[in-house]
Amino acid sequence: MNRLYRAIVASSLCLPVLAGCSTNPATGRLQFNLLSRSEEIAIGTEAAPVLVEEYGGEVANQRLVAYVERVGRSLVQHTEGDASTLPWEFFLLDSDVVNAFALPGGKVFISRGLASRLSSEAELAGVIGHEIGHVTAKHANERISQQLFVQLGIVAAGLGASRTDEDVIKYGVPIVVGIGGQGYLLHFGRNQELEADELGLRYMARTGYDPWALLDVMNVLQNASSDSGPPEFLSTHPRSDTRMTQIRSLLNREHYRAATDPRPDRLERRYQTEFLALLATPGG
Ligand SMILES: [Zn+2]
Repeated sequence: MNRLYRAIVASSLCLPVLAGCSTNPATGRLQFNLLSRSEEIAIGTEAAPVLVEEYGGEVANQRLVAYVERVGRSLVQHTEGDASTLPWEFFLLDSDVVNAFALPGGKVFISRGLASRLSSEAELAGVIGHEIGHVTAKHANERISQQLFVQLGIVAAGLGASRTDEDVIKYGVPIVVGIGGQGYLLHFGRNQELEADELGLRYMARTGYDPWALLDVMNVLQNASSDSGPPEFLSTHPRSDTRMTQIRSLLNREHYRAATDPRPDRLERRYQTEFLALLATPGG
């Protein structure tokens, strides 16, 4: 029995009749997810303050926080299914580390170190859109479901077994939160990164941002890497030629060109004056 389930997890083979399998409205892909929507929310809500503390708290300036929230909320309006009604929260972490990540249930984080290296609101939308993509594609749910299998076995993991939110938090939170100050522990696979890139581009274009700005984000990450060793963002988001190639290939498709013709303003000036200028101010 266990071998069968391992095979299902390993191959992502999913039978519609099998509990835990459903089609994701964002990706159109059949997924094996054990966690319910409320369990995803419970894990994200529990883990968020732990990660905020590990990254030195949030940036205090409420205008900066509001800027990030405005961009995030405009993007989630264009997500699929019931994702827009998740309890979304967008955190601007007061950390020099260059990183961004997301928790299941709609918690999205970007560090001051990464935000300060971006040069337009469209690039910020690229980072946040990619992270929203991880949430809507339920990538953490997939990973946690696999680990629950390994740790607990299928019955205890909850196909019909009695399971409480406390059980889910007890096992799920340590999977997404690093133990011993490692920061965000959950690493996504390459295919999940490609999927998040594609969804990020989609949400950017639907919201009216220039999706080409995501390529500039990739370059920012590459430069951050050569400055001071690989930023943490690259350990959770490995940059690869595959990703760049896929982004370019998607952007050259007709519907992206049509959606962004003429190419929208990237809102560089607004980002400089209403965000970066305040970020550079002491106490910002
Ligand atoms: Zn990612």
